Amino acid sequence: MSGKEHVVATAATVSAVLTYAAGMNAWQALAVGVMVAPAALLPDTDTQRSTATQSLGVLSSIVCRVTVRTWAGPHRWRTHDAAVGPTVFALATLVMSWSHPGRVAILATAVALGLAALDAIGTVRSTALTRTLATAAAAAAAHHTTIPYTVMAWSPLAVWIGCIAHIAQDALTVQRVPIPGTTLITERTAR
Ligand SMILES: [Zn+2]
Repeated sequence: MSGKEHVVATAATVSAVLTYAAGMNAWQALAVGVMVAPAALLPDTDTQRSTATQSLGVLSSIVCRVTVRTWAGPHRWRTHDAAVGPTVFALATLVMSWSHPGRVAILATAVALGLAALDAIGTVRSTALTRTLATAAAAAAAHHTTIPYTVMAWSPLAVWIGCIAHIAQDALTVQRVPIPGTTLITERTAR
């Protein structure tokens, strides 16, 4: 699935669940859905062709390479294992939220993915260069601001939900996703 499809499907699903299952006001639910949606791009950092990997050009491409080499493995493997990928991304976000540089990095990532998501949908066009400049500006501004922990407390959950939504969407496609937990005990088999 494309980044565009993941972002739109996640925003719609999260908003619908919050409205109908959690009884949230439709506008509040939509706001949360739109905030969570860019996190749904994270699992595809295991491929060079994805919206997330291409978000900041060379910089995000290097992050992708490191992700693949250190723990993710090939496309649609550990980042797409519902028991592994969302947990790793959420725990990384949690640890980052404990320090100021980490919080700046979370905000910068959110800006980069948010802009990449808007570009993928076609709402606001941007290039890797303009996204990098905007992200650097946001990081510089955030660095000089006191970011209260309460602002960041929800971020690991938002990341987890976005990743789970991504995997659920990919599970509906012909390529499928791994059975949760199996990527930790088996080598990659044919999809
Ligand atoms: Zn995917």
